[in-house]
Amino acid sequence: MNITIAGAGAMGSRFGLMLHLAGHKVTLIDGWEEHVKAIQKNGLQANLNGEQIIAKLPIYLQSELKPALSSDLIILFTKAMQLEAMLTDIQPLIKEHTNVLCLLNGIGHEEIIERYVPKDHIMIGNTMWTAGMEGPGQVKLFGNGTVALKNLVSDSKAKDTADHIVEILNSAGLNAQYSEDILHAIYKKACVNGTMNGLCTILLSNMADFGDTTPAHTIVQQIVNEFAAVAKYENVDLNVEETVDYIEKNCYNRDTIGLHHPSMYQDLNEHNRLTEIDYINGAVVRKGQKHGVQTPYCSFLTELVHCKEQILGAK
Ligand code: NAD
Repeated sequence: MNITIAGAGAMGSRFGLMLHLAGHKVTLIDGWEEHVKAIQKNGLQANLNGEQIIAKLPIYLQSELKPALSSDLIILFTKAMQLEAMLTDIQPLIKEHTNVLCLLNGIGHEEIIERYVPKDHIMIGNTMWTAGMEGPGQVKLFGNGTVALKNLVSDSKAKDTADHIVEILNSAGLNAQYSEDILHAIYKKACVNGTMNGLCTILLSNMADFGDTTPAHTIVQQIVNEFAAVAKYENVDLNVEETVDYIEKNCYNRDTIGLHHPSMYQDLNEHNRLTEIDYINGAVVRKGQKHGVQTPYCSFLTELVHCKEQILGAK
């Protein structure tokens, strides 16, 4: 199977490398010129669970795609705000038989993808794998993860395709499964990102220190309430109490991930990069406006993060 990774940063490199190591034909596409040049010159250099690996993977700048490239499966792994530009640039690669899988964090990406890909060729999902960039062409890949996915259109042909893609991902050890309840999983993960990412970014704190503050419980509960209120309009029944409990048990645990700074913190505070806030809390605000649901906490947090992006001159 010809697999294209559209957006070959930290996560795209992880998936690309694991699929390549499993024997699949993988092509990377990315918009960061320094990174693309580094991989073309030296290969993708990965620290994979402590083992240094160099993989000679073909990589192209998204603005310089060869029309002859063909792809059976495209896995989208840009940041959310880069998604539409990537889809525009890879249009020549999206042929009649091409399937597209989106594993970005955040909600509502399918509304953008549908403008570029026939609905019955789109799969959405999420992943618990992690990855980090060490510099252009260099990634650090530690730990384990899972993938859950589902076809957007509910018909048996699209389901067969999704099952096949699950098999392909599993052949590379990516622990994938088909999930009938994928929107619920996407919303639940978005609640984790929609609380920890923005709050720790603004407060300059790790997750456990935030969790120790007296207002933390109420703030998290209010934000999750807003996610749950808009999720109802997509027939997703998100239990607020259970979700808050899940966040508090997992994110504040100092023995596991509690001392980590979320990726948005690192992107903005350490690397001066724009954030995905518009596609997490901001998406809830837009959905709230559409359905007449008040979302004051998500709205305020989105605005605060935008203020900080502008103060820091993030790009
Ligand atoms: P990333 O920032 O590493 O890569 C995304 C794009 O940004 C790529 O095009 C990359 O080349 C470019 N980029 C990366 N560093 C750059 C820099 N310093 N300067 C200029 N361009 C740079 O993003 P990611 O972490 O791979 O995330 C992709 C998607 O997956 C996002 O939606 C994210 O929320 C989600 N996600 C990430 C993780 C994780 O652990 N990284 C885990 C689960 C989901």
